[in-house]
Order: sequence, then structure tokens, then C-alpha cells
Amino acid sequence: MASRQAWLDALGIADWRQHQPLAIQPARAPAVVIREAGAPGDSWEAVAGEVANCTRCGLHECRTRTVFGVGDRQARWLVVGEAPGADEDLQGEPFVGRAGGLLNAMLRGIGLAREQVFIANVLKCRPPNNRDPAPEEVAQCLPYLERQIALLQPRILLAVGRIAAQNLLATDVTIGRLRGQVHAFGAGRIPLVVTYHPAYLLRSPGEKRKAWEDLKLARRVAAGTAA
Ligand code: SF4
Repeated sequence: MASRQAWLDALGIADWRQHQPLAIQPARAPAVVIREAGAPGDSWEAVAGEVANCTRCGLHECRTRTVFGVGDRQARWLVVGEAPGADEDLQGEPFVGRAGGLLNAMLRGIGLAREQVFIANVLKCRPPNNRDPAPEEVAQCLPYLERQIALLQPRILLAVGRIAAQNLLATDVTIGRLRGQVHAFGAGRIPLVVTYHPAYLLRSPGEKRKAWEDLKLARRVAAGTAA
């Protein structure tokens, strides 16, 4: 409770008991996969081993290390970001540095420790100079994330940032229009909520209130009280 209040105080939000109407969006078409997500015999160890040695796209030539993902492999929450940045590339862990600190605070605000969720990215290797992922890189790498999702079977997917949201939902709709509603991911129609990337929120603190609304929506969905 205290941590949530700290997050609210940081945002300058007094009234957060606001509810938003829900609109379930159509499921996205599954991406082309090399090993099918949910295939019998798949395992976390198999996916991790393949990612660690992956050369499917050109990003393997400039990475320091792959960033597989981190957290509870039985978590109800899967947080998905874009791709490793400089800090993540060095440390091999997603969402570290200042943006990672803000993500941790956002999670604490809804009563979750970082260790209670699983955090991954659409891309497992850093694009040079933090450029946007190229479509062919996403096409090669997304099957890993789909296998992670099939293994985790999360109750809620939180897509963090435009790149993650647009690639998971196979759309070019702006993040401003994607957030504030519940989408459905894949054939399993896993509920998916979109919010802003913490790096963006650090640059645009005026958007934190919207991020807080997104997190509350995701929390209601995860709790099964979003109707
Ligand atoms: S970004 Fe993904 S597909 Fe490309 S080399 Fe890294 S792990 Fe392989």
C-alpha cells in the first residue's frame, strides 16, 4: 500500500478510482514460426539455449549478449518491451537502468514485485544505436517470444511501448489509440493491455497519469474483475 501511494505521489495523482469501459479487440494472426509455439516437448531450457546461440538475423553480429528475459516462469503477468538497450545488452537483462527502475516502480504501484512477473522483449538482441527493429528482425525473433508465452500461459500481457504493442497486435495503429482497452493475443486470446514505455514516461512525465490508468486496467483484467 505504501509503495502504491509513493507511485501515486510521484505522479501527482489524487483520484485514481476511475474505471474505463472495456472493448475486446480481434485477435492478431499468429506470426510465422520456426518451431511452433506450444509444440509438444518445448521447454524454457530449449528456448533459452536457442536464443543464446541464435544467428537468425543480423543483430547477432553486434550484440554483446542476448537478453532472453527474466522473472518468474510461472508468473501470471508477462511484461513485453521492445528490445534491449545499451544497459540491457551489457547486463543480459531486460529493463535495467532508469527505465527499468521506473518499470519496477510502476509494478510496485499495483502491488507486484519485479520478481513476481516475467519480463521479456520482442527482440532478444540490441538494434544498433537503439533504432527501431526492422520487420525481418521481428519476423525472425517473435517466434521465441511466442514460445515463451505458450510456456508461461500468462493471465495478462502488458505490452510496454509502441513497438511491442504494434508487433504483438500486428497493427500500425498509434499507441494512443491502442491503450485504454483490452485486446486479445493469439489463438488463446490472452488479454493484452498496452501502456507507454517507461523511457518515454521519463521524457514525458505528463503521460504518467495515463500509464497509471493502463496499469489499473491490467490489474483488473488479471484479477478477473474487469467486466
Ligand atoms: S534478435 Fe532474435 S532472431 Fe535476431 S539474432 Fe537475436 S535472438 Fe536471433
